[in-house]
Amino acid sequence: MNLALLSEQDLLDDHRARLTGRRRDHLVDVLRAGEGDTLPVGVEDGPMGTGTVTCLTDTSAELRLELDQSPPPPLPLTLILAMPRPKMFRRVLQTVAALGVKDIWLINSYKVEKSFWQTPSLQPGHLRENLTLGLEQAMDTRMPQVHIRQRFKPFVEDELPALLRDRPGLVAHPGTSTPCPVHLQRPATLCIGPEGGFIPYEVEKLEEAGCQSVHLGPRILRVETAVPVLIGRLYDLCG
Ligand code: SAM
Repeated sequence: MNLALLSEQDLLDDHRARLTGRRRDHLVDVLRAGEGDTLPVGVEDGPMGTGTVTCLTDTSAELRLELDQSPPPPLPLTLILAMPRPKMFRRVLQTVAALGVKDIWLINSYKVEKSFWQTPSLQPGHLRENLTLGLEQAMDTRMPQVHIRQRFKPFVEDELPALLRDRPGLVAHPGTSTPCPVHLQRPATLCIGPEGGFIPYEVEKLEEAGCQSVHLGPRILRVETAVPVLIGRLYDLCG
């Protein structure tokens, strides 16, 4: 936790907040902070700055806030991800939130196991928890939006075209002839397949909608590795 992300419930007023649970424990056990110490804080979807610990108890930490900074710019990327297996899904969510992706679409695909859609990680509270961990890691406050679409064809036919308006669409697909572009200076939409990959019919449908298939070289990467490699290749993360 490089920044404590404050929700509305944490705010006592415009200048004070109270941390409990995981964030209070992290502050004490990992950061070894005490009264008078400061730590980076940010308000969800709002400004960032510092919090000075004014009162520490066994269950809570009260902070005086100075919020004078903006969060880092979001990545102009819409990410379309075939639903990964739950354990990987949680890690991928944290990673993409840390990388600055704000628009995430979880879609079905032939090789997505039906049981993946039953995971509690898809419940709003769990989604938020994992996204928060990513934002806290990267020191960002803007909460990503997650859209869940459990039917591939209606998504591709009815919704994908709008996500490709005025921006290139890419399908990461091993074995295609076009290398993934680098250093994009504009928004883009990126589709990433499931562990077993997109089937030819799905690639065809994505291409029909306007996407171009691209590869990352001959090595087949796990989804959790392919995601940051693709994003790091598409955008210059150093600003
Ligand atoms: N056997 C599957 C295939 O050939 O599509 C492997 C799928 S891979 C484990 C999971 C996803 O990560 C792929 O669908 C793709 O989106 C992305 N990916 C992994 N390695 C890639 C590569 N070398 N080039 C492009 N995409 C890749």
